Amino acid sequence: MALLDAETEHRTQGGPGLPQQRRLVTDLPGPRSAAILARKADAVPAGVGHTVPVAAVAAGGGVVVDADGNSLIDLGSGIAVTTVGNAHPKIAAAVAAQAAQFTHTCFMISPYESYIEVAEALNRLTPGDFAKKSALFNSGAEAVENAIKIARKHTGRQGVVAFDHGYHGRTNLTMALTAKSMPYKSGFGPFAPEVYRAPMSYPFRDGLTGPDAAERAISQMEKQIGAGNLAAIIIEPIQGEGGFIVPADGFLPALADWCRANGVVFIADEVQTGFARTGHMFASEIFGVVPDLITTAKGIAGGLPLAAVTGRAEIMDASHAGGLGGTYGGNPIACAAALAAIDVFENDGVIERAQQIGTILTERLTAMQSQDPRIGDVRGHGAMIAAEFVDPETNAPDAALTAAVAQAAIAQGVIVLTCGTYGNVIRFLPPLSIGDDLLIEGLDVVAEALAAA
Ligand SMILES: *Cc1c(COP(=O)(O)O)cnc(C)c1O
Repeated sequence: MALLDAETEHRTQGGPGLPQQRRLVTDLPGPRSAAILARKADAVPAGVGHTVPVAAVAAGGGVVVDADGNSLIDLGSGIAVTTVGNAHPKIAAAVAAQAAQFTHTCFMISPYESYIEVAEALNRLTPGDFAKKSALFNSGAEAVENAIKIARKHTGRQGVVAFDHGYHGRTNLTMALTAKSMPYKSGFGPFAPEVYRAPMSYPFRDGLTGPDAAERAISQMEKQIGAGNLAAIIIEPIQGEGGFIVPADGFLPALADWCRANGVVFIADEVQTGFARTGHMFASEIFGVVPDLITTAKGIAGGLPLAAVTGRAEIMDASHAGGLGGTYGGNPIACAAALAAIDVFENDGVIERAQQIGTILTERLTAMQSQDPRIGDVRGHGAMIAAEFVDPETNAPDAALTAAVAQAAIAQGVIVLTCGTYGNVIRFLPPLSIGDDLLIEGLDVVAEALAAA
């Protein structure tokens, strides 16, 4: 019976037409997923891990369907990527049309209009009413690397500050910027030089006001590096992998003011927070900061690999011709997908939907918190909300409880992701195409998993 269902699912296309239900026809992994994952173990290095033991065959709306016909509720969006929904029809159509037209020329050889249109859209949509320019790349890490290159070239300085709990990628420079050793850095050094770390505002754990936390960071930067040696500071307006840490009000504006006064480029890494995820087109808007440069990726193109650096034209223009680019950067299929995604972000009520989802998530999680002191903090904005799990006596991070809850929820067919420097945060990043019923059912499963843990 289960295998018959699986055959049916194999022929089912993805996208929003998929049955919107949680349905387990096997334990996870089922036999087909198990066979594929056994091949993964043989063919793919152990360093490329996975957290949900299924092989995906279709996805859309609010579900991911596996090779055995299990339908899982998706509360992760492939790490904040499929914000508009997996296999969104507008994106699927744009990709198919572009793939039939041309797949690549290399923008550095013979440019094409869609790349320029994406740049124009980014220049228009990002905060700041000054002249802007954008350059396109393939991944968030590559965008971050290029933002640092551009800031160094513009300032003629080398130092870069990243923050405690920050995550900026897995390439050499971005490993240096990333705070957490395991699993991102351990054993992979030496890391790029002239990268310094400053303390973040983490209200749940430091109890500082935004201005006080900024003063602490600024004092450290002035004493340990010197403003005159600093090209840039890079910060996630809401930290992603580090634990969905929302800085206290006033922290980011004080940092941005200090950067402006000292000729330091203020880079907002909005790779995870960008494109409606937080109930705003960009999270910088929540805090009233206008970055000099913004890095974007993840949600930008509905799942196609694309990333960008957008910022003040005079900074972006600092590089000599040929200094920026890459063979695939701004690939035409990825650009077609981004234009379709941006159309959805601007015209299909996605920002409002992120706010609604944020209300559902926050109300439910704070209700759970009031019954269960092991939830120490609930925080986030829009469809980027997290719960931090602690020992109620000491507030010490409880990574074991967090892992147990996440694993139990996954076993029951709900994809949830963990994060946090201390591994004690469950983050909710549902696709904005998920229905209320599925979202609430997913939260029910998480609540049951917590009660049982
Ligand atoms: C995911 C992420 C990156 C890295 O993006 P990749 O596409 O995985 O290279 C950088 N910064 C932030 C804030 C991220 O969340």
